[in-house]
Amino acid sequence: MTPGAGEAHADPAPAVTSELRIPDPSLVLLVGIAGCGKSTFARRHFRPTEVVSSDACRAMVADDPTDQDATSDAFSVLSFILDKRLRRGRLSVVDATNLTRDHRRRYLGLADKYAIPPVAIVLDLPFEVCHERDRRREGRQVGVDVLQRQRRDLDRGLAQLQRDPAYRVLRILTSQEEVDAVRVVREPA
Ligand code: ATP
Ligand code: MG
Repeated sequence: MTPGAGEAHADPAPAVTSELRIPDPSLVLLVGIAGCGKSTFARRHFRPTEVVSSDACRAMVADDPTDQDATSDAFSVLSFILDKRLRRGRLSVVDATNLTRDHRRRYLGLADKYAIPPVAIVLDLPFEVCHERDRRREGRQVGVDVLQRQRRDLDRGLAQLQRDPAYRVLRILTSQEEVDAVRVVREPA
């Protein structure tokens, strides 16, 4: 196509940002194995009050964000908060691994209940990156066995996610460079 008169023809700037357009409000599910950077991503792009985190809910009910015995209660609290936020039409981010369709189903149900569009942002970073970060972490390493199991869940879950028409936006980020380049743009619904 011939560019019109007056159109700028400067060399294209390097693609340092990549817009990720999401409706506001929406229900944003972060998806990824431990150490992939979900909580870091959430902190960078969303307000603290918009992020509902499974680790924070574990801490609320058990004084320990790593207490796996508290998982059931923690997710009850998470769902309760999410229900109230979505009812009020507040953009909400679920910071949990969200690897399997079963994990995600209850959130999709809540989004549907309040007619809030669901969004999935998958941090599908190389396994070794996540493993290395897990090893360097102080206090709460999950270990290679759990990471491998999560990776298998993610592989299965990704295929399902890509076929699922429920998501208004699905973005799969496969490298730290891609993650770093993201700029979240909210579009009023
Ligand atoms: P979990 O599921 O266990 O909560 P997560 O997906 O929330 O993990 P983060 O806590 O965000 O992951 O990150 C895991 C570790 O990796 C943290 O120690 C964090 O500081 C580190 N990390 C995150 N992003 C980067 C990065 N770009 N470079 C180096 N280290 C990073
Ligand atoms: Mg986290």
